Amino acid sequence: MLPLVYHPSYSFPLPANHRFPVGKYLRLKEGLAEDLAAVAHRYFSAEPDPLYPAHWHCPDYVQGFLSQSLPATMARRIGFPMSDQLIERTLAANKGTLLCAELALDHGLALHLSGGYHHAHYAQGGGFCIFNDLAMAAQTLVDQGKARRVLVFDCDVHQGDGTATMLAQHPDCISVSVHAQRNYPARKPDSDLDVALPEGLTDQPYLDAVTDALDLALRYYQPDLVLYDAGVDIHADDELGHFKVSSQGLLHRDRLVLSRCLAKDIPVAAVIGGGYQRDLQGVVNLHRLLFKAAAELAP
Ligand SMILES: [Zn+2]
Repeated sequence: MLPLVYHPSYSFPLPANHRFPVGKYLRLKEGLAEDLAAVAHRYFSAEPDPLYPAHWHCPDYVQGFLSQSLPATMARRIGFPMSDQLIERTLAANKGTLLCAELALDHGLALHLSGGYHHAHYAQGGGFCIFNDLAMAAQTLVDQGKARRVLVFDCDVHQGDGTATMLAQHPDCISVSVHAQRNYPARKPDSDLDVALPEGLTDQPYLDAVTDALDLALRYYQPDLVLYDAGVDIHADDELGHFKVSSQGLLHRDRLVLSRCLAKDIPVAAVIGGGYQRDLQGVVNLHRLLFKAAAELAP
């Protein structure tokens, strides 16, 4: 059985022409009904929980967000207009990644139809990220003794700067980021391992870099859980990402990451991460590849 995490709040109303493709979550769930028709799967939801980010992020920042009273500069860095729906969606999606990780520990593999808010730092958000679902889930599971060491393996085209800073002091929460050197953020704080790649990268050199980084991280850190950010903004059609990876290359990446972890009996929780195209269906079709790979490999 392949566990999936989703909440109806994920696609929430944004002003017309907002750059963030917020409709992709619902559209993805609809597409998966067909893709996963022959695969045993089940949906789970996490309910919004304001105490969860309050435990891991700066109390003033969390309170400012929940009361919609963040300073304008901080709200602008995040990039969303503040609203009740944004709060509900943020809280549900953050807890959703933790739920996905718990399901992965039980079932070997679990997927979240959201997540990957890797630009969120302890006391500020950025780049459409408010609270850092990956860093919070890793710390929670290690703190609770459910995992001994968690690897956040981030293949979004953007570097996981927030994850890097939030996990910097945690020897058992490891951050690895494989990203485009010239993409956002301009300032890239050190992850435990950063693989910064040149723009214009095509399938084979990209897949070689991902394979090398993953093999090194699994061998060196020996995690007992992997949180995989499967951002699709590495694709050639992405309007923000600087790589030129094809759809076939993207599918190969997801297959190789999932299969290498599962071959070592390491559970994987995957989140969909970023993907930016005005053609919403184009982005959704790329996110569907992660689920295709998972359906082939589900234990
Ligand atoms: Zn991204």
